[in-house]
Amino acid sequence: MDNAIHLKEMNPEMNVFILYRDMRTYGERELLYKKARSLGVVFIRFGRDDKPKVRVADGKLLVAVTDHILGRPLEIETELLTLATAIVPNRDEQLANFFKVPLNADGFFVERHAKLGPSEFATDGVFLCGLAHYPKPIDEAIAQGQAAASRAVTLLARKKIFTSGTVAEVDQRLCSQCGVCVSICPYSAPAWTEKGPFAGRAQVNPVLCKGCGLCVASCRSGAIHLKGFDNDQIFAQIFNLSEAV
Ligand code: SF4
Ligand code: SF4
Repeated sequence: MDNAIHLKEMNPEMNVFILYRDMRTYGERELLYKKARSLGVVFIRFGRDDKPKVRVADGKLLVAVTDHILGRPLEIETELLTLATAIVPNRDEQLANFFKVPLNADGFFVERHAKLGPSEFATDGVFLCGLAHYPKPIDEAIAQGQAAASRAVTLLARKKIFTSGTVAEVDQRLCSQCGVCVSICPYSAPAWTEKGPFAGRAQVNPVLCKGCGLCVASCRSGAIHLKGFDNDQIFAQIFNLSEAV
């Protein structure tokens, strides 16, 4: 590597180099990045197709990398080489399906809302924290764990839970046990009745139901209705509207 810039010789006082592919310094972590820069740490970005190469020559540990801004090869002579540990998601689709919670394309779980629900899922009573969410520093994982625990406690501390009245209800006499509502509901609200004369037929847990109407439209037996939005009520609204026009 004759044309490479030899960094130890070029600047002997600067002794920390960080080679990276991508860096996110969100929030106040930008200040840490700036502080590292001001203390003399050198950050060098490398390309996906041009990864750093390590070799030993004449008893020296040498790292070769191409700086994408200079467009030139660099050679760093170092005494200590530390590799950052990769974080690989579990991609636990069985768990995701069981709780009906989403995974993103990388295999991490996705929160209800980045700002309004960062430690919970859209499915009530299921919470999220730590590396299951995305790679994050330990202080952020602890804060999110505390937030998730607090959210769970606010539910457990209540003697009564008030929910919306706009929920789906199954007329179990009409249910043909096809299972469509159980599989289609994004909130796991329908389930099979375990006991009684209608055992094996669907029922909806009104606490979990969000009233989205997906199961109502999907039930081919016409067994489910959404309280406040029955067919008769919808048709009456359409009829009144058409009369008013
Ligand atoms: S979709 Fe209708 S018929 Fe099928 S299980 Fe649900 S309530 Fe029963
Ligand atoms: S109305 Fe929506 S949330 Fe409620 S049970 Fe049906 S699909 Fe689930």
